[in-house]
Amino acid sequence: MSEIAIVARPDDTSRSLKQQTELILKRNGFTVNETKPDYVLVIGGDGTFIYAVHKYIDQLSTARFFGIHTGTLGFYTDYRDVDYDEFLRTFLSGECTEFSYPILEGITEDSVYYGINEIRVENAARTQNMNVYINGRLFETYRGTGMCVSTQLGSTAYNRSLGGAVIEEGLPLIEMCEMAGIHHNRYRSLKAPFVMNDRNRIVFESESFAGALLGADSDVYPMESVHRLEIGISEEKKVRMLKGRTLSYFERLKSLF
Ligand code: NAP
Repeated sequence: MSEIAIVARPDDTSRSLKQQTELILKRNGFTVNETKPDYVLVIGGDGTFIYAVHKYIDQLSTARFFGIHTGTLGFYTDYRDVDYDEFLRTFLSGECTEFSYPILEGITEDSVYYGINEIRVENAARTQNMNVYINGRLFETYRGTGMCVSTQLGSTAYNRSLGGAVIEEGLPLIEMCEMAGIHHNRYRSLKAPFVMNDRNRIVFESESFAGALLGADSDVYPMESVHRLEIGISEEKKVRMLKGRTLSYFERLKSLF
């Protein structure tokens, strides 16, 4: 029988739905396995979903994710808490379709990071200079606070706050956005969000990233020893999401603002 893990946002509604779901699933023959689940049920919001994917990042080839939002509609979840019965019935009946969503990898000299929404370089301490290469060719020399590279799903997250375009679901695209770029004669950069093919590889290179943080969704890492960060869609890892019903992307988007 299948093994499940439930990841819930630490609020009363999500916690109580977690307890209820665990009981029902156990009664239906499922076993809880927090270490190596076949299914990860996510109860919370888009942030919780991203947290759950990072928690099981080494098991993406086997784990499938199914989410319910205990707030508004989400981009990673098709059900709200008022749809709880339908959510559970769909899962138990196996009437879900699996979809794969690409994620970003960020490769430095000594580590690999993953971004479901985005990977970013942010320097709040001092002005960051960097050369930006796309597919091995110098594209621009950037100066400013930082850069954000987002997935299609992440386009409604940090990317949108930076003035980036929202990308409709299903389009195989990534997007690069400047954070407070400085524009004058010496340093030329695009000064506009760049929506591009998701096969492109972007490299940020600098003599020094001192003071900068590498952001991968909710997590941040110091970049003191980094000189090169390569970002692109991971060939190895994808998020396997279960969907029980088709929701219009426009409805989701409307519920965001
Ligand atoms: P978090 O509390 O988990 O998320 C911050 C907010 O971003 C929450 O309201 C969350 O929605 C929403 N969100 C997350 N992914 C989204 C998506 N793909 N589309 C639309 N909204 C989305 O914060 P965190 O742990 O620091 O960071 C998680 C993500 O939040 C990051 O990847 C980043 O994209 C985003 N974020 C944005 C800003 C900004 O816009 N200035 C700042 C920090 C973080 P739920 O309420 O549904 O969880």
